[in-house]
Amino acid sequence: NLPVIAVDGPSGVGKGTLCRRLAQVLGFHLLDSGSLYRLTALAAERAGVDLDDAAALAAVAAALDVDFASGHDDLVVRLAGEDVTLAIRSEAAGMAASHVAALPAVRAALLQRQRDFLQPPGLVADGRDMGTTVFPHATVKIFLTASAAERARRRYKQLSEKGIDANLAALEKEIAERDERDASRSASPLKAADDAVGIDTDHLDITAVFERARALVRG
Ligand code: C5P
Repeated sequence: NLPVIAVDGPSGVGKGTLCRRLAQVLGFHLLDSGSLYRLTALAAERAGVDLDDAAALAAVAAALDVDFASGHDDLVVRLAGEDVTLAIRSEAAGMAASHVAALPAVRAALLQRQRDFLQPPGLVADGRDMGTTVFPHATVKIFLTASAAERARRRYKQLSEKGIDANLAALEKEIAERDERDASRSASPLKAADDAVGIDTDHLDITAVFERARALVRG
């Protein structure tokens, strides 16, 4: 029984940063499950598959030719050999991902692929349904929350630092829209596992969140 640290929560709550740090200090593998949904949407778009064609999208998900390699400070993601690390990070890719993620057939097609990331010595899994569906027996389950306004501010700051123009109000609207879709879908809607520990990050910086998570992992 290998250890799994499941970290779930809505978009822009800081799961990615927390999970990278945890995986690094623990020496565990990292699953960025959102990237699989983003990759499915991108691969579908490139193959000319309609975002409403569930069966075709599930086939795309099942056949994804992806490769994850540790890069400088992020995972380098390749789709059929092409570096798509940046392409899958756009707001548009996130929106498209949340559309395909609402389809049960797509979720089913990605389930085993996600579980296969669990290799010795253990795994940190970042997503929406890590603690509920993908790793229901995870060793530690953490559910991060933050208000949509705070998440929009963080995203805005991130984008500004990269020199990307953004509109705070538009970001907040997009985040709220994505939350709504992720929480209202019938297949694995976003919700905390019964045995998850919640961390409200509104007034915590990343180091404080990391320290709390670390304490939970130590038990
Ligand atoms: O976490 P990230 O923003 O990369 O995820 C993109 C989209 O993929 C989310 O908005 C959500 O709809 C979907 N997703 C999911 N289940 C996961 C991870 C992501 O439904 N485990």
